[in-house]
Amino acid sequence: MEDVVILGSGPAGLCAALYTARANLSPVVVEGLQPGGQLTTTTEVENYPGFPEPCDGTDLVMRMRSQAERFGTRYIADEVVATDLQPGKLTISLSGGDQLETRTLIIATGASARYLGLPSEQRLIGKGVSGCATCDGAFYRGQKVAVVGGGDTAMEDALFLSRLVEHVTVIHRRDALRASQIMGDRVLANEKITVAWECVVDEVLGEDGVEGVRLRNVKTGDVSEIAVTGFFVAIGHDPNTTIFADQLDVDEQGFLVTTNTRTSIPGVYAAGDVQDPLYKQAVTAAGTGCMAALEVERFLATAEA
Ligand code: NDP
Repeated sequence: MEDVVILGSGPAGLCAALYTARANLSPVVVEGLQPGGQLTTTTEVENYPGFPEPCDGTDLVMRMRSQAERFGTRYIADEVVATDLQPGKLTISLSGGDQLETRTLIIATGASARYLGLPSEQRLIGKGVSGCATCDGAFYRGQKVAVVGGGDTAMEDALFLSRLVEHVTVIHRRDALRASQIMGDRVLANEKITVAWECVVDEVLGEDGVEGVRLRNVKTGDVSEIAVTGFFVAIGHDPNTTIFADQLDVDEQGFLVTTNTRTSIPGVYAAGDVQDPLYKQAVTAAGTGCMAALEVERFLATAEA
């Protein structure tokens, strides 16, 4: 029986690993489908404290990984497929067939990119439709692309793509951006980016690959088409909670409900984006990972007393 198993290897999971490893709890981290989490799909990170110069997202999270490993964290390159959360004996089933039993569990499974859900979009995923500009942007060098969304992810994607492509159209459903001022200002000042304000996507055009997008202005009802070969969806993320939702309390959006990282089952904690509908930052994820680790330490100490 393990003392602590951590699901997820983004900043929340790795910070929880660092703290529980330094407390001699010898944590096991199940890395998940995307080792390193969402930071590995960003380009430059310029708002993580301690790095006055922008740092590479993958590099940052790999540093966290080595730091936790140095104190005895063990990593399993697998994905959790089921959990049986009986207080005192928490069982984790992995896709490779192995099972882990643990006294405490920290869920840091993060969130995944959301899609619009249009049939034409779903059909063209991987054929011009992408949820990750940093992963796929290089395929569109010198071409015209569109990014849908008005948050920081959409701005970051548009700015990243503008360095590679001929032109970026940002498609946003309102007349004001949700993104932070600094990111929005950069996009609006960029000559290679234009914004299609108050527009929604009715259809992604093309048979075997993206050829364009049909837009509808939500105020006027006017329909127009733009020619693009890449369509990047950046409309937010959904928490990765499906396999826990019937055992733990979740809110109406699917986020795990926590009090100081404690979930509805004793010994089970959650950290990072999986329980955070509000802040969703690398630094807040790391912070809640630390909180969950300290909660685990207290829980185990109390159970032994
Ligand atoms: P957000 O939830 O902040 O933004 C999502 C955007 O997508 C909004 O503009 C929203 O429109 C739009 N949207 C949502 N659903 C639809 C839909 N069905 N059709 C059309 N548009 C839609 O998500 P992000 O992923 O951008 O950001 C998440 C968090 O991560 C934020 O806290 C952000 O600050 C942070 N982040 C920070 C970065 C940085 O600091 N460098 C980089 C990336 C993310 P509307 O505005 O109308 O709701």
